[in-house]
Amino acid sequence: MIKELVQAQQMFFASQQTKDVAFRKKYLKKLSEEITEQEDAICDALYADFKKPKFESMATETQFVLAELNHAIKKIGEWSEPIRVSSSLSNFPSQDWIQPEPYGKILIIAPWNYPFQLVIAPLIGALAAGNTAVLKPSELSPNTSKIIVEIIQKVFPQEYVAVVEGGVEVSTSLLAEKWDYIFFTGSTQVGKIVYKSAAEHLTPVTLELSGKNPCVVDETAKAPLAAKRIAWGKFINAGQTCIAPDYILVHASKKEALINELKKYITAFYGENLELSKDLARIATPKHYEGLKQKLEGESVLLGGSYNDKDQFFAPTLVDEPTLDSKLMEDEIFGPILPIISYENVSEIHDVVSRYEKPLAFYVFSQDKAFQQKLMNDYSFGGGTINDTVVHISNKQLPFGGVGASGIGGYHGKHSFDLFSHHKSIIKHATWFDVPLRYAPYGISDYIMRKIKYLF
Ligand code: NAD
Repeated sequence: MIKELVQAQQMFFASQQTKDVAFRKKYLKKLSEEITEQEDAICDALYADFKKPKFESMATETQFVLAELNHAIKKIGEWSEPIRVSSSLSNFPSQDWIQPEPYGKILIIAPWNYPFQLVIAPLIGALAAGNTAVLKPSELSPNTSKIIVEIIQKVFPQEYVAVVEGGVEVSTSLLAEKWDYIFFTGSTQVGKIVYKSAAEHLTPVTLELSGKNPCVVDETAKAPLAAKRIAWGKFINAGQTCIAPDYILVHASKKEALINELKKYITAFYGENLELSKDLARIATPKHYEGLKQKLEGESVLLGGSYNDKDQFFAPTLVDEPTLDSKLMEDEIFGPILPIISYENVSEIHDVVSRYEKPLAFYVFSQDKAFQQKLMNDYSFGGGTINDTVVHISNKQLPFGGVGASGIGGYHGKHSFDLFSHHKSIIKHATWFDVPLRYAPYGISDYIMRKIKYLF
């Protein structure tokens, strides 16, 4: 079935229909209309999967992709235009340009944590650029996967866009096929498997992976605002956000104030009894939930620390000074546990940050411009924010992605269009004149050679 689907998409792409900008626009508009119509049903599916609060579902999933869609629909004509560049003297007279062209068949594999957004946002870029697509949502968010199938089947013929549901086996079968581009979002571990499969066919990839994201709070930071913005970015989606701050490195002089403010805001956001809050998602998978329980074992809990097997509730939790060789500090936490580690000298920040691979995100809270700049310059990371968390994902002008172990490639807005386009270089050489110089027999004197070498 997968083979036939790939073949059907190959033929559809070869028919050249997707190269027509009006065709792309028509389908992006249909997708936008269908998502708008199904918005409540999508939010219900997200709630059924992990009790994602409706406001969060709209802000980070449906409205997020609708904004991407509307932007692409508006800009697609402009983006698709060939880009004229100046010609080189040696080719005089010529017209030179860069022509974006679609790669062909795209495979998009997505995780469970933002199960709607992370399927649809890359799809928008793939279609805007004129590709066909096969989508593989996560098997661990089955209700969202089901509604994605319904929407896609209603909007697209399957030779243009299709969904293939399933887990590792299905994913493996899909990866065995020859694609023109693979877009993968998920763990670094599985990213390596995807990269290897892609290498078999020399298929280009985007890998949106994970990392352990530091959040530095120095002695000059405004503790109340820092705490408010950290708590928001950490506990939205119950901490199951690839760019959530993973751990805090706070200057020792600011630690007490920051902890008090964090406690205050967590209570203000979610109430005294955290489990009763309607604004906290649950942990989406049993494996992940059990993993969080293990990570918390033996740690010094400052707030939270409770959980409930009944619906995989895990309270927003603050942990005091975990050791760097603890389970909690081993790798990405990806849940609502926030370790707080204090430092006295800047070199101690480096000792912690440099233990890990290049993170997906980096945050610094400080009023000291030189310090902000130093951290932004000294470390390599996917993207970051000064005096806030997570919000760099929301600007379509900024490419979103990782570096090193946290990923390859960046997308959103025009960056998505560019990512899913091959940029073809073309020269149109005039026929009314032909410089004879390049043809053999060369017979050029040293004197002439010296004169013309600047042409090359
Ligand atoms: P995962 O890597 O386990 O799974 C992602 C997808 O790959 C799923 O569709 C799954 O079915 C498939 N898959 C799993 N094992 C596979 C295998 N052996 N071979 C082929 N395919 C396989 O990730 P997850 O647990 O679903 O998602 C959480 C991870 O994703 C976290 O590490 C998080 O940081 C990362 N993430 C990154 C971003 C980003 O934009 N960089 C966004 C969200 C999540």
